[in-house]
Amino acid sequence: MGLVIIVVVAETKKQDRLSKNRINKAEYLLKGNSSCPGCTAMLAIRHILKAAGPDTFALVGACCAVVCEGVYPNTCMAIPTLDTAFACTAAMASGVRAAVRDRGINVIAIAGDGGTVDIGVQALSGAIERNDDFLYVCYDNEAYGNTGMQRSGSTPFGAVTTTTPFGKREDKKDIAAIIGAHNPPYMATACASYPIDLQRKVERALSIEGTKFIHVLAPCPPGWRISTDKAIEVGKLAVKSCSFFLYEMEERKIRMSKPSINAIKKPIPVREYYRVQGRFARMSDEEIEISQQKIDANIAYFREVCDL
Ligand code: SF4
Repeated sequence: MGLVIIVVVAETKKQDRLSKNRINKAEYLLKGNSSCPGCTAMLAIRHILKAAGPDTFALVGACCAVVCEGVYPNTCMAIPTLDTAFACTAAMASGVRAAVRDRGINVIAIAGDGGTVDIGVQALSGAIERNDDFLYVCYDNEAYGNTGMQRSGSTPFGAVTTTTPFGKREDKKDIAAIIGAHNPPYMATACASYPIDLQRKVERALSIEGTKFIHVLAPCPPGWRISTDKAIEVGKLAVKSCSFFLYEMEERKIRMSKPSINAIKKPIPVREYYRVQGRFARMSDEEIEISQQKIDANIAYFREVCDL
């Protein structure tokens, strides 16, 4: 892990205040969009927009979400939205923020992993350096979903994609560590399978001035080769196996989220996360063991820095 930090802050009861009863009943992502059945990326965006509310301007980078929105003049977005090219989502969010300065409007940039960890990272890096005031959300389905499921820098080791037919040889890029090294005022990781945790983090992010970043793991049924009714469960297995950690970072302090605190104390074997996904079916026992060792090292790291 590449974060430099760290001091520990335990999960507080305050953070659990967002209960199911407090979820905004209004919908800003409308029914009838063209996402695949079981798409958790769109589910995550639905919850992000609920947490942000109506006074929000969204920028959506080239990614599955931009396709799912619909073709002009049709859209499933019930808030003002600007679609952007892969490389410039963060740069355009900076421009929109400058245009609506001091008007009490949330500016939220949304992009997939390809448009963030690979193609868009330079614009995002520049925005964080300037501390431009917007929230950037990367929903991570771990491949280029809308162009045919090619591998991205965020695809994990061993996963089969259309450009890694025998399984990817390289590790997943740690975008949270890369963004964390910029020391933004707020950064968090989340998963579509934990919507209340996700909404709470969006609320927290929007309450802070400057560039905020949330990395959301979003299981993708066709890309991960899982049935549509298993997407939520698979996201939970990612967290329970510590393949993905849920945490927040403010002022270089890491605060581990409750599902990951539980997982770090008693992780399930990564094999249980892999065996329900067709994309890992080609992994050998040796490769699974290599992955387990890397996860164990990450668990040891977070145990130490978070005193768990
Ligand atoms: S390919 Fe995956 S991320 Fe893209 S719309 Fe379909 S389910 Fe969602």
